[in-house]
Amino acid sequence: MELLQRFKDPKLGQRILERLQQKISRPLNFMEVCGTHTVAISRSGIRELLKGKLRLKSGPGCPVCVTDTGDIDKMIGLARLPGVIVTTFGDMMRVPGSRSSLVQERANGDVRVVYSALDAVAIAEANPDKTVIFLGVGFETTVPAVALCLEEVVRKNLKNFLLYSAHKVVPPALETLLQDPEVKIDGFLLPGHVCTILGRKTFEFLSQKYNVPAVIGGFEPVDILAALDALVDMVAAGKAQVLNRYSRAVREEGNPLAQAIMQKYFDLVDVKWRGIGIIPRSGLKLKAEYARYDAEEQYLLEESTVEAVPGCSCGEILKGKMEPPECPLFAYICTPLKPVGPCMVSSEGACAAYYKYERRR
Ligand code: SF4
Repeated sequence: MELLQRFKDPKLGQRILERLQQKISRPLNFMEVCGTHTVAISRSGIRELLKGKLRLKSGPGCPVCVTDTGDIDKMIGLARLPGVIVTTFGDMMRVPGSRSSLVQERANGDVRVVYSALDAVAIAEANPDKTVIFLGVGFETTVPAVALCLEEVVRKNLKNFLLYSAHKVVPPALETLLQDPEVKIDGFLLPGHVCTILGRKTFEFLSQKYNVPAVIGGFEPVDILAALDALVDMVAAGKAQVLNRYSRAVREEGNPLAQAIMQKYFDLVDVKWRGIGIIPRSGLKLKAEYARYDAEEQYLLEESTVEAVPGCSCGEILKGKMEPPECPLFAYICTPLKPVGPCMVSSEGACAAYYKYERRR
């Protein structure tokens, strides 16, 4: 507890901040790849305090935000099926598909908010005459828990539980961004939670293949400032390494048990990310031997051809090419109460974080 307090210490944070302000000699572009970091940076005022020195871009780190319109449309298709109970996390409910959202589908179907996949399993057990579908979104942090639920479903031989997996993995998305000549990134603030599962070594490709420095950071203000400080030092020294500044949670090799259960149930497949397009081997699909639990295999779901929500710039924001206030709809037409795109819907979305903590209009 005492250790954790150090990472919230305002005096220590102030000292690192002043050091950062003094030593940054040219404006730098860093990207955080975690919705929790996006919110923490906005809430703590770090982005504002370093304005003009560092541009802290929000990357594709919010799992709800990167879920493609086509996936949302398929989820809505599932919610319209007779005899089905659809379950998902609260943030997914208001994400617009091309014609509707899950919250709108509640008027006709049975769509329920759950806090975990285990809740969905409990609903399946309590409703043996219905098919219960869990709509899974999330990165490596979420997937091991979903895999453990599947273990339970298989063990109990539950026949009325299905998973729609829109789960994704983070490293291929970073690689895709680095291959885009329009995306300018001087360094990455790496997602502490995801790195807890994958370990530091997984991200070494950033420095070894792309010569881009990266630092794994925690989520308290001092954690974030210390990670940015290390990034600035590496850029100044012309060095690219992947450093771990969240060693109280992240190990070199990550969590092998969590990795093993993910690999037991899921295969890596090519999937579409909102605003980014298809990224090879970046999605997690249930393995063929578990196809009986895969909602996509059990139902013929209509493919949507709609690219994005009209007028919404989430795609550009997720690639770090725009900041939320640069979207013409931000805070005028698009607000948390009436969101146009997922970046304003999700509590971890960049637009929602800017609206709540950094809005000037
Ligand atoms: Fe999309 Fe709204 Fe964000 Fe604009 S402000 S990018 S419309 S979510």
